[in-house]
Amino acid sequence: MLHRVFGHTAFRGEQAQIVQHVIDGGDALVLMPTGGGKSLCYQIPSLIREGCGLVVSPLIALMQDQVEAMRQLGVRAAYLNSTLSSEDAAEVERQLLAGELDLLYVAPERLLSGRCLNLIDRAKIALFAIDEAHCVSQWGHDFRPEYRELTILHERWPDIPRIALTATADEPTQREIAERLTLEDARRFVSSFDRPNVRYRVVHKDNGTRQLLDFLAGHRDESGIVYAFSRKRVESVAEQLAAAGIKALPYHAGIDAGVRAANQRRFLQEDGVVMVATIAFGMGIDKPDVRFVAHIDLPKSIEGYYQETGRAGRDGEPAEAWLCYGLGDVVNLRQLIQQGEAGEERKRLELRKLDSLLGFCESTECRRKALLGWFGEPHPGNCGNCDNCMEPPQSWDGTTAARKALSCVYRTGQRFGAGHVIDVLRGTATEKVTRFGHEALSTFGIGSDLDVKQWSSVFRQLVAAGLLEADIERHGALRLTADSAPVLRGERELRFRTEAPKAARASTRKGR
Ligand code: ADP
Ligand code: ZN
Repeated sequence: MLHRVFGHTAFRGEQAQIVQHVIDGGDALVLMPTGGGKSLCYQIPSLIREGCGLVVSPLIALMQDQVEAMRQLGVRAAYLNSTLSSEDAAEVERQLLAGELDLLYVAPERLLSGRCLNLIDRAKIALFAIDEAHCVSQWGHDFRPEYRELTILHERWPDIPRIALTATADEPTQREIAERLTLEDARRFVSSFDRPNVRYRVVHKDNGTRQLLDFLAGHRDESGIVYAFSRKRVESVAEQLAAAGIKALPYHAGIDAGVRAANQRRFLQEDGVVMVATIAFGMGIDKPDVRFVAHIDLPKSIEGYYQETGRAGRDGEPAEAWLCYGLGDVVNLRQLIQQGEAGEERKRLELRKLDSLLGFCESTECRRKALLGWFGEPHPGNCGNCDNCMEPPQSWDGTTAARKALSCVYRTGQRFGAGHVIDVLRGTATEKVTRFGHEALSTFGIGSDLDVKQWSSVFRQLVAAGLLEADIERHGALRLTADSAPVLRGERELRFRTEAPKAARASTRKGR
């Protein structure tokens, strides 16, 4: 079947075991990175087992593409969702009952309708495949309430095997999927999430666009994606890249659908197109030769970062994941979360995820080890293909600097952003410093031993470590946290990472 229908020579990773397990009627929970080949795991058993494989998929937009691709391989596939006319839907139902379908894709809300459940009662079903299974998890980023009700599949048809698949596999999500879908007894197939050909690099933002242009200079005429924080950012970055002679196109949900589709087509078909996009871009995009994924702003979470960078180097050739972030990003994202519509619990969760990502960014350990560790996958570290492995960061004793910084935040009333506090620390009598009488403070000028850049780095790392937080109501004013006190009292030692010196950065700019 693999050769004859799909034209592949060999199974990848654990595909063979998964396919065998499901053919034999077992339940399975499959955790495999995007591009790993999850679809085959239910497609082949659907073709081999008697009856039609029923695939629950939340992405209506992708159903048609998947069905189209299957039909081209000669597989009898169809879909049922709200885009079909009632005549077309009736025809699909007839085909299912007549045993004329191998694969049927269904949107979850459709599946749960009384009409569809009755239909399943009367049809011969080979298996249930629950794609994007993380949608059942509140912890995940694409929560779909209807997914919670999919337990009905097991309750009503306990003898039909179920296979749940996802590319999001951090521990909390794994646990929740198994619990919510009553798949505790299902066999788990956890593939490695490592992408050894992707080189990870995190840099600190001073002039984001210039840094991005430097980075892109090492990727001339290559295809890549640049992710930006907002639609406005996407537009302005795309314009700046285009002005610099780069074939850059914008993509976000606010762009006219026709233009968006045209831009996506060019990205897929032409060489060397750089797509500047919000996270609206990428889901379901199967382009193997994306050579880089750049984040010009901080993503929202480690899972998001992993998903987005996972679009680089699907062909196994060297690819680069580059992330550029500054304290301003943290302020923006916190603001976005806190002003969002979500409930309090959800907001706290998202803030925690953001903190984890900050920890990852400021970490001095192997990026790959840290990233995989987040997914519960052990890695020995020293991967040799991330910034921290290639240019091990130096660290310095920041205990005194941290005390000075925190006490200056305190003395200035916890009402100012890093820029002003740094001016006070360094004894710079700006107009603002004078206006607030801050040159009279005991902390005025106590930090003249460090330059502005070094202090910025200290403040960023204090925020990343949760020792300072940015107050959204007050435009990012820094204030102390519950954890600040031991540092202020000198009871806690701190080490900070030393910024890469300019020269080292310049030499790595040349790229791969
Ligand atoms: P996922 O759903 O895990 O993101 P897909 O099922 O879409 O991944 O597969 C990603 C790509 O890998 C597809 O182009 C598919 O044809 C290809 N693929 C899957 N399995 C194999 C295999 N055993 N050999 C070669 N190519 C494969
Ligand atoms: Zn490494």
